Amino acid sequence: MAVLPVYLYGTKVLKTKARPVKDLSNNIIKLIYDMVETMHASNGMGLAANQVGSLHRVVTIDISEVNEDEREESHDQLKKTSPGLPRKVVMINPEVLEREGAWKMEEGCLSIPDVRGKVERAERIRVKFRDPNFDEKELEADGLLARVMLHEIDHLDGILFTELLNPEDKAAIKVDLKNIRQGDVETSYPIVTAEEE
Ligand SMILES: [Zn+2]
Repeated sequence: MAVLPVYLYGTKVLKTKARPVKDLSNNIIKLIYDMVETMHASNGMGLAANQVGSLHRVVTIDISEVNEDEREESHDQLKKTSPGLPRKVVMINPEVLEREGAWKMEEGCLSIPDVRGKVERAERIRVKFRDPNFDEKELEADGLLARVMLHEIDHLDGILFTELLNPEDKAAIKVDLKNIRQGDVETSYPIVTAEEE
């Protein structure tokens, strides 16, 4: 296993649509292990393959360390994940089948360090995907889990959360995005900037 560098805002791979995984090769298994390790090393709640420079439709999620009770008090926006839902998920070829409701919460992204903004997303979703054994799964997710899934699935389609902000919030982060694109950024984890790609 290896911690992979995270591709930052401005790199082409983040704006490219990832391709479906056809079968479970050794490459894909290694990618999954490396993504989980990279996600943990950078304290992320989720990671999409584009963020480590790979254009396979693979997403890893781990919200098990998030104290949702505490967060609910400090951020009145948080909607908690229902008990019984998994907190760790690996999704291959995820597809959103249904979306219901809407809520706003502040998001961040490992590829856009130190930038945050409120994004409206569905409250409840039904997703289908293949698990790490390549078995087909269907899951109804809500709250934070649904939000992280939607954020990561957007990455697979080349969509970043900053594109979903309202016009005022977009204007407010313009300089920060320019700095990241130019490589003027510091992170605690290894990165690839637009210039280095
Ligand atoms: Zn992200």
